[in-house]
Amino acid sequence: MARLALSKRIKNLPPYLFADIDKKKRDLRSKGVKLVDLSIGDPDILAPKGVIKVLCRQSGLKENQKYALDGGKQQLKEAVKVWFKKRFGVSLNKDKEILPLIGSKEGLVHLPLSFVNPGDYVIVPSPGYPGYKSAAILASAKVYEAALLEENQFLIDFNRIPRTIRNKAKLMYLNYPNNPTTAIAPKHFLENAVKFCSHYGIILAYDNAYSEIYFDKKPQSILEIKGSKEITLEFHSFSKTYCMTGFRIGWACGNKDLIAGLLKAKTNIDSGIFGAIQDAGAFALEEEDKYVDNLRKKFRERRDMFVKGIEAKGFSGIYAESTFYVWTKIPRKYKKSYDFAEHLLDKGIAATPGVGFGKYGEGFVRFSLTVNTSQIKKALALI
Ligand code: PMP
Repeated sequence: MARLALSKRIKNLPPYLFADIDKKKRDLRSKGVKLVDLSIGDPDILAPKGVIKVLCRQSGLKENQKYALDGGKQQLKEAVKVWFKKRFGVSLNKDKEILPLIGSKEGLVHLPLSFVNPGDYVIVPSPGYPGYKSAAILASAKVYEAALLEENQFLIDFNRIPRTIRNKAKLMYLNYPNNPTTAIAPKHFLENAVKFCSHYGIILAYDNAYSEIYFDKKPQSILEIKGSKEITLEFHSFSKTYCMTGFRIGWACGNKDLIAGLLKAKTNIDSGIFGAIQDAGAFALEEEDKYVDNLRKKFRERRDMFVKGIEAKGFSGIYAESTFYVWTKIPRKYKKSYDFAEHLLDKGIAATPGVGFGKYGEGFVRFSLTVNTSQIKKALALI
């Protein structure tokens, strides 16, 4: 019925690429096939026990059972401020430069509504987290996919972005440690990004959701870079650092005008984050460093086991520098990442074809090591 037609905005969202794969997964599962699911970035590991205790206790408080309309609890913002200073050496103003979010995705996706006009360009990394492209489309913006290429260590080559795009771009998303390529950005790249965005008047949305999931090189905050606070909002998440994906909590920090603009959109859309979850988040930042150390050890063990295993099976072009993903080239005999993912499904393994992350992801596949080592061993035996 025409009256119920979807808006252009929704119609313009990218098609869902994995409908066939999802159907195949469902069919296999309904036949009793136990797939090893390496397709979803949702850790199998429980959140810290102390966090759960705080969440339960604080849920009983009357103040936490009411709307949380104040742009985030003071205690949580203080905890973010202290953690940020300790982790990155960056000072933040608690009242103006920190904004708690209902998960980092919420802020990343709402940001263009506050700052991007219809027809402006939004630059997104490709391959990249699909939320950026959707966010741009929902704000009626145009999308420019900037290639993350193997030969550039999966760093955007700013020189390759056409001048017409640079001049019409209002916002650029960057994400390191990177999903899906696992690359970490070196300091000189962060400096170039800040220079580029400052020069062209582009807002920089730096997605640092995986800042704590590293093995050797420790990722930086872009807010460590001189001049970055003029143009940048950095996004953080409790989802990966504390395995709290279902809790829905994260934060944005950086330029105060960007914070104020994002808050303006948010106050018209949501009514804050459940207070007890904010309290649990504050506790995590204050008390759970050991949990994160152990988490890194677990992911390192999984990564080492999986990488060794697929190397032995003849895979090449394997990337696993950070995050809990492994990004690798598909075997030569497959032309498309989708075909290889289908083949893996037939063997009992769910993985994500690279093309699902954008056109420059073609030729790769992403494995998510969010299952235990016995499942990983099982997957390796099947590949
Ligand atoms: N950024 C990246 C790169 C992600 O991979 C994800 C989730 N997979 C998010 C942001 C969103 O995380 P959340 O909303 O749970 O904080």
